[in-house]
Amino acid sequence: MLQPQAWFIGHGSPMNALESNSYTQAWANLTKTIKKPKTIIMVSAHWTTKGTFVSGNTKLKTIHDFGGFPDALTQYQYDVAGNPELAHKIEKVTNNQVQINNSWGIDHGAWSVLTQMYPDADVAVIQLSIDVNKTYQQHYDLAKLLADKLSSEDVLFITSGNVVHNLAKLDWRNSGSIYPWASLFNDITVQNILARDDMAILHKQDNFSLAHPYDDHYIPLVYFAGFASKLAHREVFNNKIDMAALAMTCFSAI
Ligand code: ZN
Repeated sequence: MLQPQAWFIGHGSPMNALESNSYTQAWANLTKTIKKPKTIIMVSAHWTTKGTFVSGNTKLKTIHDFGGFPDALTQYQYDVAGNPELAHKIEKVTNNQVQINNSWGIDHGAWSVLTQMYPDADVAVIQLSIDVNKTYQQHYDLAKLLADKLSSEDVLFITSGNVVHNLAKLDWRNSGSIYPWASLFNDITVQNILARDDMAILHKQDNFSLAHPYDDHYIPLVYFAGFASKLAHREVFNNKIDMAALAMTCFSAI
């Protein structure tokens, strides 16, 4: 069985699904360091709901929740199985705080990363939605509860968002300049994660509204902190900001 682990992946552009670059190679390399899990519990920035849900399907449909990309991406299929039995267990161990919802599938925040990590789609996936009405403390507590209750289920926790994500401020020429507030926010977040200062992650630090005009890409980091709360060792990789305001920073915890 897999030793408990949690990863936070800065997913960036959906095109990372098809490209091979230093970011995607680092994602793929990570999987080579561990035994293949039975199931991935995935929290993606792109499934936001009122209430918290898990996919309970036997097979997840590939969702193309973006526009303006080439056909190769809009038609891409990541044919992966779910794990309905474990989804039912999640309902049970959370006293139905989390419920099965089979209307979703797998979105690009999840499959653009997973197709690089497990290109054969041979690890089952359960997506966990982000409840827009929960506080960060409630997200964190739910992640801790799931890490605790699923510790014997051979699962890998992956969360997918971005440490800095301001699409309106992106430098599409990618000239290499970075907003000072973006660097600062990224640096402080890295420092807090590595120092295991999870309470700092749960509070909106300086420049939060610039780094995250919407916080959907930040909340997966809160889940990572919760999933990793009992794990002893944390590391950072892909610690870089693209297009002036999009952090590709990732973390692993073991
Ligand atoms: Zn995204």
